[in-house]
Amino acid sequence: MSQIDRGFDAAFAASELSDAPRQGLKMGAALFSGSRLLSVGANLYGRSHPESEQSKDFWRSTHCEHVALLRRQHYDNRRLTLYVARRRKDGSIGSSRPCKNCLWLCSVLGVTRVWFYNSYGQREVVTP
Ligand SMILES: [Zn+2]
Repeated sequence: MSQIDRGFDAAFAASELSDAPRQGLKMGAALFSGSRLLSVGANLYGRSHPESEQSKDFWRSTHCEHVALLRRQHYDNRRLTLYVARRRKDGSIGSSRPCKNCLWLCSVLGVTRVWFYNSYGQREVVTP
């Protein structure tokens, strides 16, 4: 199994820890330094800034990328790679493209690569 497969496996596993109100909203992230898993995170609902937007169409949450970055146990900053993944209700792979804010957090914290699935279900990598 390649490191990229391992990274996505950890991110999918982390997504199951989410308390999202619907399966399709469960997102997971896994932070690696090379092949070493540093932390995982799932998006957490109702635990974000109290003044962030909350409506029928937009549920307030702390994003999984943010949670994984906060939970990092080892401050090894070499070759930091973050993997982000999501499954839809039917089990298929959903888009897990990080938002601008999470990419900004990644760049500030020295993450050099972020892997995610695009809306076509294909793996994509960006440098934040
Ligand atoms: Zn985000």
